[in-house]
Amino acid sequence: MEFMRRKMKTIVFLNALVTVIWCASPRCNPEDEFLGRFCKEPEPEKPKCVDIMMNYCDDMSYTHTMFPNILGHRTREEAELGPEYLLLSVVHNLLNGECTPDIRMLGCSVLVPRCEKEKVLKPCRSTCEAVRRSCRHAFEGIEMAWPYFLDCDRFFVSDQEGCYDPLEGLRVTQEEDQASIDNTPEEPHTVIQFSYQSNTQMNSILKKTAEQCPEIATTYSIGRSVEGKDLLVIEFSNNPGVHELLEPEMKYIGNMHGNEVLGRQLLIYLTQYLCSEYLLGNQRIQSLINTTRIHILPSMNPDGYELAAAEVQGTNDPENEEAQNYYSWTLGRGNAQNIDLNRNFPDLTAVAYGRRRHRHFRNDHIPIPDAYWFDKVAPETYAVMKWIRSIPFVLSANFHGGELVVSYPYDLSKHPLEEKMFSPTPDEQVFKQIARTYADAHATMSGNNSERCGSFGSIGQDGIINGAKWYSFAGGMQDFNYLHTNCLEVTVELGCDKFPAEEELYTGWQDNKEALLTFMESVHRGIKGIVKDADGNGIKGARISVRGIRHDITTAENGDYWRMLTAGIHILTASAPGYTRAMKKIHLPARMQKAGRVDFVLQKAVVEPNIEEDYNIPSMGTYERFDPYNQFERYSIREQNQNREERQEKPWWWSYFSRAHGSAPTWLLRID
Ligand SMILES: [Zn+2]
Repeated sequence: MEFMRRKMKTIVFLNALVTVIWCASPRCNPEDEFLGRFCKEPEPEKPKCVDIMMNYCDDMSYTHTMFPNILGHRTREEAELGPEYLLLSVVHNLLNGECTPDIRMLGCSVLVPRCEKEKVLKPCRSTCEAVRRSCRHAFEGIEMAWPYFLDCDRFFVSDQEGCYDPLEGLRVTQEEDQASIDNTPEEPHTVIQFSYQSNTQMNSILKKTAEQCPEIATTYSIGRSVEGKDLLVIEFSNNPGVHELLEPEMKYIGNMHGNEVLGRQLLIYLTQYLCSEYLLGNQRIQSLINTTRIHILPSMNPDGYELAAAEVQGTNDPENEEAQNYYSWTLGRGNAQNIDLNRNFPDLTAVAYGRRRHRHFRNDHIPIPDAYWFDKVAPETYAVMKWIRSIPFVLSANFHGGELVVSYPYDLSKHPLEEKMFSPTPDEQVFKQIARTYADAHATMSGNNSERCGSFGSIGQDGIINGAKWYSFAGGMQDFNYLHTNCLEVTVELGCDKFPAEEELYTGWQDNKEALLTFMESVHRGIKGIVKDADGNGIKGARISVRGIRHDITTAENGDYWRMLTAGIHILTASAPGYTRAMKKIHLPARMQKAGRVDFVLQKAVVEPNIEEDYNIPSMGTYERFDPYNQFERYSIREQNQNREERQEKPWWWSYFSRAHGSAPTWLLRID
């Protein structure tokens, strides 16, 4: 709409321009020249205030400017043909609406500065600095340098020098908008925009949120997608960036299938909610963040999202609903190499099934078979594997769409010929409890009358299901989490519609908000503690076994561990190579708000118990082996670097400036 209006004005304006040139050009009579008379240039007039008359600067709070302008353009035409004005005309599209109209108005204040009483005024440095602070990320997101003509020191001045605020007109409307949002009764505190965001906008929101809450949040990238987009994580903790002794860590992953987008949106909203509620003194959020380290990756597949979003926009024709449904069901599911990321993890479940009769075999910390690295490993999968190996995660949820249910491991059927077969892990009771935690706190998921999406057939469900009983597949992420690390992950299917209409996003948030919070809090269920030696030093890599559950947990760097458990009596054993075992019997009450503390002290053993040799199966390699032949480095990283180099030579937005008059704006290219 806005775009159309501008376009029409451009046409009108061009007509006007032609007229101006026509009327203005013959300064002297052609016949004078013919007769050999010299045609004198008129005396240069003293510059005067003139009407702005520039299309993209028509909403400034003033109407008069003067040429030459601050950049030295002598006429309006010259200013209009320059790359600076061209940038202002496309910046809305380039940044996907981010920082609009602030950047444009800031630029206008330099191109057509305010003129009063035949004198040019300069815009305020403080405004420039504020815009730069909040918009730098948007430029970084598209790898564009901060435009030279928005250099706050060069072209802007301080209050003392008599500056004007270029965003003056804007402030009033924004305050009005703000006031109307604040009146909504449901969310009195946190202002969240319930709309879709591009990848650039998403990353910018995450970084901005971390800037708003620097005491409790930070962002970091775990790697890049095929097309070079950052896989950006935001972390919340009272000591961001650091693992604290005994503080459990959990993660949320969204948008693994690029076309399943509600999870991505919920996680973006969740980060904004956590930050602002913490600042507003919400007790529940404060104690959650003060006792937990939370990592949120809203999009594991930004390339797929881009494809799916473009397609949904293209088929957004109400007449063509069938095509819309068809495309959104499949397009963008995989990454840019069309790899389904939830089939791309090492299939350790088959390994576990193959070895289950082996006497000493345990279903935990299974090494990645070397053969895995010779198949195609997506950079997104690689990044997540590295990530989950590097942090002692306890609990995780991974968000999808297409059904309304929480599914839990295993996803691979224990019988190769049975497609829908109940295939529990040794932690079946714990996983059911974890899955229930989300489903029961969700507005509609666990209700018997809840609308399912048809993929269960006649099986009655209460909102949770064993993955393989639903349908079997290999190479999924939750099975890998369980069999390779200490982390217990479930898959949350958020609803039938994989790409819901924007109007439904708010309802989606309302339905899931409580579940998202309760699930994070549930990481404190079960027990935790430290395994130490006789001198009081933590033992890294010690095993915590629970009788009756063939799945050990190992201790982290400083000997701390977390074991999610159901209520009841449990017999625990701690062991480590070179130490004697220690055993404890505990009773875990049904209603515990925080993890029960169980510490162990292990004595040095004279004779080493022979657990380790039996456990290691020689053909499998060891847990430490990760990409042993550098297969991934060799292929994927090179491909990625090539992509990146190509982009550096020619950023995607460069074509916008091909029609720039004179020299191309190389000042927009970043020098990294
Ligand atoms: Zn999915």
